[in-house]
Amino acid sequence: TEADVRLAEDLARRAATSLDNGRLYTEAQEAVRARDSFLSVASHELNTPLTSLTLNIQALRRDMEPRAGGAASPEALSAKVVAVQRQVSRLSSLVRELLDVSRITAGRLRLEREDLDLAALTREVVPRFSEDLARAGCELRLDARGPATGHWDRLRLEQVLQNLLSNAIKYGRGRPIEVRVEADDARAWLTVKDQGVGIPPEGHARLFQRFERLASERHYGGLGLGLWIVKQIVDAMEGRIRVESEPGQGSTFTVELPRQRA
Ligand code: ADP
Repeated sequence: TEADVRLAEDLARRAATSLDNGRLYTEAQEAVRARDSFLSVASHELNTPLTSLTLNIQALRRDMEPRAGGAASPEALSAKVVAVQRQVSRLSSLVRELLDVSRITAGRLRLEREDLDLAALTREVVPRFSEDLARAGCELRLDARGPATGHWDRLRLEQVLQNLLSNAIKYGRGRPIEVRVEADDARAWLTVKDQGVGIPPEGHARLFQRFERLASERHYGGLGLGLWIVKQIVDAMEGRIRVESEPGQGSTFTVELPRQRA
């Protein structure tokens, strides 16, 4: 009868709502779990450089006190100052990532586009990593003859490159890294290839999510925000990012950018 049909419809609707509620509840629980775990990771990540910083500054103060044996050598002092510098820059980049996340989630990622050459920009950014590369015992091959011009945001593109490069160094096991820039009439590509630890297939899609760090890489440190930020920047420039990777073989990240706005 008509009443039966109405009853069945009503039941179906209620069942769907309760399924929806169940799903929403699971999602909410998941979000709370992600937030709690992020807070604990973030406090740990900020605390580590802060602790070394405190110790190094105490040691510097001791070194500068007049002692029977004379003050510490300039080399010893300078080594500690370099360490302090490194820890401060680690702290600023963590804070910068956190600020970027709030800016992006609040929808305040504004691009400042200008005409620029991705190849020239890459040739400019790569040498900034020479100290990190040397410390990792890592060689870098650069193939960015260019030109690869487009209408992009310079600082944000630098950030993309810096992020991919520092990941390649961090997860690269000291093996050679390749950076390449190419372009055709419509698009430009930036490729960063390492021969490091690689990423298991089930991790590929998760990499670009917020707070995602693969369990196997926990001991490397990091907030798991870098690649999410990179993807937001690339998306904002109407580009795409993809990864090819095999555990133990290394990873290749490719950013593709349209040279003209859609
Ligand atoms: P993090 O700051 O934790 O490194 P990212 O967002 O930059 O965060 O990267 C997310 C995760 O992706 C990392 O924790 C790591 O597991 C993995 N990853 C990123 N780049 C590489 C790479 N070049 N090789 C292997 N794993 C990588």
